[in-house]
Amino acid sequence: MQKIPVGVIGATGMVGQNYIRLLDAHPWFEVTCVAASPGSANQPYRDAVAGRWLMASPIPEGVSHLIVGDANRADQARNQCRLIFSAVNMKKDAVAALEMEYANQGLAVVSNNSAHRHTPDVPMVIPEINPHHLEIIPAQRKSRGWDKGLIAVKSNCSVQSYMAPIYALIKAGFPVNRIILTTLQALSGAGYPGPAAIDLVDNIVPYIGGEEEKSEIEPLKILGRVDGNAIVNASGIDISAHCTRVPVTDGHTACVSLEFKEAKPDLDEIGTIWRRFSGLPQELALPSAPKRPIIVKTEPDRPQPRKDRDLDKSMTVTVGRLRKCNVFDVRFIGLHHNTVRGAAGGAILTAELLQAGNYL
Ligand code: NAP
Repeated sequence: MQKIPVGVIGATGMVGQNYIRLLDAHPWFEVTCVAASPGSANQPYRDAVAGRWLMASPIPEGVSHLIVGDANRADQARNQCRLIFSAVNMKKDAVAALEMEYANQGLAVVSNNSAHRHTPDVPMVIPEINPHHLEIIPAQRKSRGWDKGLIAVKSNCSVQSYMAPIYALIKAGFPVNRIILTTLQALSGAGYPGPAAIDLVDNIVPYIGGEEEKSEIEPLKILGRVDGNAIVNASGIDISAHCTRVPVTDGHTACVSLEFKEAKPDLDEIGTIWRRFSGLPQELALPSAPKRPIIVKTEPDRPQPRKDRDLDKSMTVTVGRLRKCNVFDVRFIGLHHNTVRGAAGGAILTAELLQAGNYL
């Protein structure tokens, strides 16, 4: 199979570097185009990231010599690639316009940014939960006059720690009513260099701008339905979130309490539902899909970021501490790798789903 040429905008940043690492030797995609801010443009990628390459593996040979483009010049990517992974850190309006411009140029855009998460005809996809939301793409193309262009986005990274476990229960016939959660989010979630070390060592920061709103609203779109040329949010679920930044390098944790709407599964039933949850049909054989989207830990002191974030290519959600809740019905702790499953890896999985669905 001839590989599909892809580009990464924001390629020099925390998420961008993870794309470069994860796409090295990808069986379907090949990075042919990298771009970042004008300050990094017009030099080989290896020079643009010199002194700030954060990955444990070396810069992939095929990318190190690529000349970095200016991410603001969508026209320059047009003849170099078919799909753009967007991981630029810019003002929301600027990102929204820029991603539209890439799609106008006939490119498929898969984004980590929040700019289009609530654009009604843009699917916000967690492949194991709402792959069918991609069905809106023909309507998106038609209304925007795009022949090959499209935009699909990922949700906020912290949402990943609890959405698959909750969705698995809803799918098994146990809809939820109310959710209260507290996230403990890793430093890498703030990009590089992120907050000053002196604010974080021996400390917890009880505020991440905009994060609580995202945690409370984005799940409703993910659980929503396609209606013509819009995705209609799910209703009847109230979510209350606390989001905190903790001195962990990678791996977002969420402590979650759930109230069920009607039937209430017992703890053994919940464990079985999570263990059996497969999400995507096996026959799709998407290269980045984990064998099991949810791994259940029964040890009382798991999940832990250092021990569990890298299970199954860092693409799985690990849950543990499942027990009765004295206020709601049940509680558990979920964990995922925020820059892989929650960012670059999750977006690559979405791109694989687009390819499998013949949208590229
Ligand atoms: P980051 O480390 O700060 O990297 C930002 C990237 O954007 C760099 O490549 C930077 O290029 C580029 N950039 C900055 N200003 C630009 C401009 N004016 N024009 C063009 N490019 C510009 O940020 P990050 O953590 O990778 O996050 C990127 C995006 O993904 C953000 O929207 C973030 O919210 C989202 N996200 C992050 C995570 C995570 O876990 N980190 C998870 C999910 C989503 P230079 O190097 O040239 O400055």
